[in-house]
Amino acid sequence: MRIIHDIPGGVFPPEQKSLSNQQEIQSLPIFSEYIIPLKQHIGVAATVCVEIGDKVLKGQVIGVSTGFMSTSVHAPTSGTIKEIDYHPVSHPSGLKDIAVILEADGLDTQITTKRRTDWQSLGKRELLDIIRSAGIAGLGGASFPTAVKLDGQRPINTLIINGTECEPYITADDMLMREKADEIRTGVEILAHLLGNPATVVIGIEDNKPEALSLMRIACAGTKIEVASFPTKYPSGGEKQLIQILTGQEVPSGDIPAALGIVMQNVGTARAIKQAVIDDLPLIERVTTVTGEGIEQRGNFFTRIGTKVEDLLAHLNFRSDDDKVIMGGPMMGFELPSLNVPVVKATNCLLIPGYDALNASSECIRCGLCAEACPAQLLPQQLYWYSKADDHDKLDAYHLSDCIECGACAYVCPSKLPLVQHYRAAKASIKHAAEDQLRSDRARARFEFRKQRMDAAEAEKEAKRLARKAAAEKAKLAKQQQSATPSVASFKPVNANADSPDPLAAARAKLKQTKASEADQQSERLHKQLKSIAQRIEFIDQQIAETIAEHGEDASLIPQLQSKRAASVLKQTQLQTKLADVSGLPQTANAAEALPTTKQVNTDGNNAAQGQSNIERAENALNALTAARSSRSPQERQREALQRIEDNIARSQQQLNESDDELLREKLHRRIEQLTAKQQETLASDAFSPAVQSVHNDKALEAIERAKQTAAAQASLTPAEKRQQQHASLQARLDKAKARLSKAEAENNEHLEAFRNAVTKIEVKLAEWTRDHDEN
Ligand code: SF4
Ligand code: SF4
Repeated sequence: MRIIHDIPGGVFPPEQKSLSNQQEIQSLPIFSEYIIPLKQHIGVAATVCVEIGDKVLKGQVIGVSTGFMSTSVHAPTSGTIKEIDYHPVSHPSGLKDIAVILEADGLDTQITTKRRTDWQSLGKRELLDIIRSAGIAGLGGASFPTAVKLDGQRPINTLIINGTECEPYITADDMLMREKADEIRTGVEILAHLLGNPATVVIGIEDNKPEALSLMRIACAGTKIEVASFPTKYPSGGEKQLIQILTGQEVPSGDIPAALGIVMQNVGTARAIKQAVIDDLPLIERVTTVTGEGIEQRGNFFTRIGTKVEDLLAHLNFRSDDDKVIMGGPMMGFELPSLNVPVVKATNCLLIPGYDALNASSECIRCGLCAEACPAQLLPQQLYWYSKADDHDKLDAYHLSDCIECGACAYVCPSKLPLVQHYRAAKASIKHAAEDQLRSDRARARFEFRKQRMDAAEAEKEAKRLARKAAAEKAKLAKQQQSATPSVASFKPVNANADSPDPLAAARAKLKQTKASEADQQSERLHKQLKSIAQRIEFIDQQIAETIAEHGEDASLIPQLQSKRAASVLKQTQLQTKLADVSGLPQTANAAEALPTTKQVNTDGNNAAQGQSNIERAENALNALTAARSSRSPQERQREALQRIEDNIARSQQQLNESDDELLREKLHRRIEQLTAKQQETLASDAFSPAVQSVHNDKALEAIERAKQTAAAQASLTPAEKRQQQHASLQARLDKAKARLSKAEAENNEHLEAFRNAVTKIEVKLAEWTRDHDEN
């Protein structure tokens, strides 16, 4: 024998159950139209899966569950989908929600079903899928998706079936237990099987339902299902209250019964599970009590989900526009703002009390009766004040969430304050605030994620830009270092248009562009080199002309200068040829203009110049010079070298004689000594006989001696004598230069300009010397 426990608080309102439990549950006719909300449960609305105009059968899915906390909805009869739109639903605010409006065809044609007799062989997952697909939600009033409630991970040791139905007036479960006890028992057995056959399975029924108690005990005889009876007291049917009554355990605040290893289901839900699992029938109807002093035809009805309240009441000949209609009982129900709303899975009662049961409130007189009545041991008075102030923190501190909205406080309140309405409004406000906070958090998270993504993208973009820049600089460097044209294979079309229909054509175009750019660069380099070589040739010409102007055409330096010139001209010609190749242009006449025009080493080449190309002419000139050199014997070359050294000694000696700059004179002395030493080395070679060596040694010694004498003479001169000597030397050079210029003019020499420059230079030097020494 089970020990029954008491609960705190509670009230004993007039039961008034006899108003509706005197006759069997009745069926209703098929009405012309049904309104089926897609959300009749806690959680996410089902997703509509039919379209306007679709023909549907009774039991056909019209909205499928779209998430874990969701369940499906079905057509209550056969007909045509008339509308899918927002429609007023069963809610105290009269709010609209998305609903499918079904126009019944009156045939009530049902979908094909397949009865299951082997449900014991089905596993938990298969049973949960059937329950979810059948659209079963708690029929006790909370409409929590049943499959979700049964899909917990915590071990269950106690299954409690709630047959309490403690609220006054309501007799739907009472009548169901009387008429469908076997089905309820089978449903309980399926539940126990699904939950792994918990140790305790008990059906709790208040002692004000003796017929239901008796019939359920008969139905469950021989099974492990226990049927327990306990004293009537409101709200014994609350989940936490019934657990306490039957087990003595209290569900912790903020937690669920599974924390104690307990699962609770309503008797109507148990029967719906039986119909779904064995009869293959979805939840399309429920038992609804229609009662109250304001309606004559009372009773319980198998009411299809979606039945409009006005249709049902009209069927019962209720046509008053003044009477209030309450959905639910007098303790927990709410007044419907309109009768054009549907019966849903949670609609256990439609109450027409016939008097103003929920109004006539005044002020709180702080009597404390509400706290005594509260089964959850809350302080309803404080909750009332803080609900009015919308103080969420205080409501949380006073555990508003533990309020089961039983209405016991409101029932005992002498001021008839609508306490439960205040609590519901406060809960809704808290829920909305939490949702707003969640939306805000999500928006902030999205913003931060987006910002992070953009920052990362920006960083990646910058990294790519830097990589491109580095690659471009590397490529540029490589191009500068390599004269070879890059191959097609090495070309990467970095900037090729991704939309180009012909990537190869784009690559070719890019290659062409690259080649053109390289050709421009190469052309520019060649022009610079040509300009430089032209200046070099001009400078050599100038040296040749000045040498001839000052020392005559037989000066030993001339062959060297001519050799340098020939090499430069050849280089110039080669550059011009390369430039012509790069530019795709014919060769210019620059090479011809730059060819040697002074006394040629190779006269044959000069004579043949008219018929030869510029290259050939230059090459011939250089080859001839090289051949002339190579054709000389070592002795001849040594003699030429000796001659150049001695010429230099003579030149240095002359400069020494003419200069009065002590620093320059010191330099010239050292130069003469170095040249003399070099002269001795040259003479020591086999190219010179001892006699010749002797002669040249004598000449060298003479030169040195002359230099010494000159130096001594210079040192002995007075400043005036030195100035006179210097002036005479410059004047002699000028006269000599002028004489050579005259001769060149007479011969129409092609280097007249060089001769003129030589004269000008000496004139300038003489003028400067005169100016400086006149000032002194
Ligand atoms: S409605 Fe809430 S506060 Fe009032 S008695 Fe019930 S549980 Fe307590
Ligand atoms: S029962 Fe009503 S009047 Fe009395 S304290 Fe509670 S709310 Fe106030």
